[in-house]
Amino acid sequence: MTAKARGRGAARVGGAGEPTAIVLRSAREIGLLRDAGRAVAGVLDALERLVAPGITTADLDAAAENWIRAAGGVPTFKGYRGFPAAICVSVNDEVVHGIPGARRLQGGDLVSCDVGVTLGGYIGDGARTFALPPLDDEATRLLAATREALDAGIAAARPGARVGDVSAAVQAVVEAAGFSVVRQFCGHGVGTSMHEEPQVPNYGTPGRGPRLRPGMVVAIEPMVNVGRYDVRVDANGWTVRTADGSRSAHFEHTVALGPDGPAILTVP
Ligand code: MG
Repeated sequence: MTAKARGRGAARVGGAGEPTAIVLRSAREIGLLRDAGRAVAGVLDALERLVAPGITTADLDAAAENWIRAAGGVPTFKGYRGFPAAICVSVNDEVVHGIPGARRLQGGDLVSCDVGVTLGGYIGDGARTFALPPLDDEATRLLAATREALDAGIAAARPGARVGDVSAAVQAVVEAAGFSVVRQFCGHGVGTSMHEEPQVPNYGTPGRGPRLRPGMVVAIEPMVNVGRYDVRVDANGWTVRTADGSRSAHFEHTVALGPDGPAILTVP
């Protein structure tokens, strides 16, 4: 799940009770975060097998919640600031935070699934966009650019670098592909709370922002729009969609910074 970018009136990443300073995690804690991340990857793999024309987004939510609980975890998003479901499912022009419901998927849909799992008190956060065939050329390029932007952001997340290096790496890939990165929502630290410091925007300036240090754990999550980067939030208070109606994609990994470089935690 993405964080609302700090701006006028939004002083910090998290909600009540979430930490206000960057927390460095021990090797033991990173092991626990890896367990949670592995569960996230398992859920996303299961969702990838399920996504097909005719299935509802509520079906995906129910399957994900069953999978999470069978793994001994808790769906982190459920009840988070009142979010009513276990996962977020955002289709086509929906960017993030879509609420699962009666919508039936159709051929050609782009389906972004965002999954959070709390396991033993530690949280994994990850997202993928699945495409239902037939896949047009624009959608193919959108998914490739978003995946590549995430990879570039992760590669830039090396100790000694700064958050702005990650942000700029993501932005460069997206804009070179002719798409735009969402600015109102961003990645974030993750640990025992879902949204911790620092914020990790998907656009920015190299050499700026907090210094990256071993033990930091961050969710890097480019949200990429075919058209303009502006988004709006539905009356339900959650669903974020592109202002211009263009399609959007979202890929996210939870990443731990080791002394030698980044390690992706949301993998099987
Ligand atoms: Mg997130």
